[in-house]
Amino acid sequence: MRRPLVAGNWKMHGTRQSVESLLQGLSQQDWPSDVDVMIAPPALFIQQCRDALTDLPVRLGAQSCAYQAEPGALTGEISPAQLRDAGCEFVLVGHSERRSLFAETDEIVCRKFAAALACGLRPVLCVGETREQRDAQLTAEVVGGQLQVILDTFGVGGLAQGVVAYEPVWAIGTGLTAEPEQAQDVHAMIRARLAMLDDEQAQRVQILYGGSVKADNAEALFSMPDIDGGLVGGASLNADEFGAIVRAAGRA
Ligand code: PEP
Repeated sequence: MRRPLVAGNWKMHGTRQSVESLLQGLSQQDWPSDVDVMIAPPALFIQQCRDALTDLPVRLGAQSCAYQAEPGALTGEISPAQLRDAGCEFVLVGHSERRSLFAETDEIVCRKFAAALACGLRPVLCVGETREQRDAQLTAEVVGGQLQVILDTFGVGGLAQGVVAYEPVWAIGTGLTAEPEQAQDVHAMIRARLAMLDDEQAQRVQILYGGSVKADNAEALFSMPDIDGGLVGGASLNADEFGAIVRAAGRA
């Protein structure tokens, strides 16, 4: 059985003060024992979160990392080794905002995936199609292509050391959630593609759904057989809402 994981991506939100009150809210949640929980704050607040999370079953992740593990002349970047040293266990790679606004190609995403694994982080590989690509019935091709670069380098076993997050770009931050069956279709397609290469490993890969997940749609999404939890943006900035989403994963 795959254990559900719910991850919160705080994106570029927060001040020390607002982070403190969000952490306070998280400390008051009732966390189910059968769901893994992770938050990815802006890098500036990782230390603050680490100090506050010591007694909570909430793990730390980062929103991105440099594409190399070794220290070097990469002004402005944070290496996966530094993130690990700061207490992170996960790192998002290939989030659609990184792909579209920061020109991250599949090759760069693959280097980040490799660097994260080399440093003992679990990379959360984000994949997903745009509205235009969906309308042109290119979802399988686009998502398959984003996965293939990783599979060519690491195989399904390597991918299984990380996590996959299917995030249709048209659903991110728009309030337009994919219907549970619509998301399940893509999750099943992803798993079938992995299973063609290695069925045993494919059954182990956690595939999260992301895109306007809220407390009131989470359970229906997480009840789908190939949806193993969620990557939550906006709703993870509200401790009660995020707690409710995590509990929905426990019930689903
Ligand atoms: C995200 O940023 O990964 C995301 C899914 O955002 P939202 O939940 O706000 O759509």
